[in-house]
Amino acid sequence: MKTIGLLGGMSWESTGLYYRLINQETRRRLGGLHSAPIAMVSVDFQPIEELQHRGDWPAATEILIRHAQQVEAAGADFLLICTNTMHKIAPQVEAAIDIPLLHIADATAKATHDDGLSSIGLLGTRFTMEQNFFRKRLEQHGFQVLIPAAEDRELLHRIIYDELCLGIVRETSRDTLLRIISDLNCSGAEGTVAGCTEIGMLIQQEHLATPLFDTTVIHALAAVSEALR
Ligand code: GLU
Repeated sequence: MKTIGLLGGMSWESTGLYYRLINQETRRRLGGLHSAPIAMVSVDFQPIEELQHRGDWPAATEILIRHAQQVEAAGADFLLICTNTMHKIAPQVEAAIDIPLLHIADATAKATHDDGLSSIGLLGTRFTMEQNFFRKRLEQHGFQVLIPAAEDRELLHRIIYDELCLGIVRETSRDTLLRIISDLNCSGAEGTVAGCTEIGMLIQQEHLATPLFDTTVIHALAAVSEALR
């Protein structure tokens, strides 16, 4: 089995989910006491979050490249960046390491295609919903991507940074998210991509009548498949 490289800490709440999901899936597939060989570097999220909101992506890129190189030096055979938002700078990180990057949007597009959907709603941080780095990649795989209205994008952004990244799960926020998803479904979305690695803390498939694609789960399972390939 190959060694899975994780660049985590964005936030650590969701990196914990990756760690558990990868090991659970490895045990499910290999049995016994098998667990996944993992090389992980977890960053301090506070300075990254400040750089994101200041728009200083070059400085954030430098930090992520340095840590990605540490993951590679620790023996990883390939790398996962455990956040959708920081895939904004995935091309720069990928260019700075010698191991392949398992891109979260590609893994998601594949899982969504396998379900036969053509139109999907995208939830995530404002960066992920409004900019091209994730959306375009899904569109290149042939999907029509719908995003929430501006005020709902702001609500969701705040739920992610002020609650979920701090481990806070509120019923009222779940209701807000479910209402946003229902609005997207009314506009034609056949399913929802939870394009933020913390959203699964708040909503799971059981809350919804339409398909939910949780990028954390999809990315983690894709890592196990790649490691066992
Ligand atoms: N983990 C989140 C994501 O998947 C948000 C935190 C971040 O800005 O990296 O986008």
